[in-house]
Amino acid sequence: MADRDQIFAELNAEVQACQKCALAKTRTKAVPGEGPLDAEIMLIGEGPGFHEDQQGRPFVGASGRFLEELLRSIGYRRDQVYITNVVKCRPPDNRDPAPDEIRSCAPYLDSQVGALSPKIVITLGRYSMAKFFPGQSITRIHGQPKREPGRIIFPMFHPASALHDPSKVDMIKQDMLKIPALLDSLRTAAASAVAPLSLSTSSQTTVAPENVEADDDGSPTQLSLFG
Ligand code: URA
Ligand code: SF4
Repeated sequence: MADRDQIFAELNAEVQACQKCALAKTRTKAVPGEGPLDAEIMLIGEGPGFHEDQQGRPFVGASGRFLEELLRSIGYRRDQVYITNVVKCRPPDNRDPAPDEIRSCAPYLDSQVGALSPKIVITLGRYSMAKFFPGQSITRIHGQPKREPGRIIFPMFHPASALHDPSKVDMIKQDMLKIPALLDSLRTAAASAVAPLSLSTSSQTTVAPENVEADDDGSPTQLSLFG
């Protein structure tokens, strides 16, 4: 953990002083991200807005309030998840981040994902989705988890897009409600990975059905959530 603390302290300092793209000229404060460094859930938005730029913290405006409500619906508070953005500085007038800005900023996000190693990465909106699902459409793939070695990537609409389009509110709420079962499925997979030890001693207490039904590779067969 000390390592992680140091990695994030250095990364945050680097972001706060960063001049690698044009957004450095117009920002008030860079917004590296925040949350516990052992968080199981990492949320990635698009970029800081007005309030985030003022405070140097992610998702503190209207989108943030909706995001907190969504997290509450699955029993999480914002201080239990790590929250960051694709670009760490506010695009002027909240315009979309430009491809070269996203490219310049990507190494910070890559380091954050690598060092935090969350169980689930939730992408919020198109720009965040595009990093993990290149060429895909958010309308088509929202709410459909992708399993990667050691983690799940879960694409969701951006909370702001739901605030602007009431037809998306229910979809984003429903998508969020899938998270607990996804976390459970990862715990089951981790448990079945050590199952062979307990299976070899037949006198032991009952083996959980999910362990008995494990695939050759040790992963649980119950993968319907990953359709
Ligand atoms: N929207 C985002 O994408 N990120 C923030 O931090 C705030 C609003
Ligand atoms: Fe640096 Fe990223 Fe800010 Fe651009 S957006 S100045 S790359 S921290």
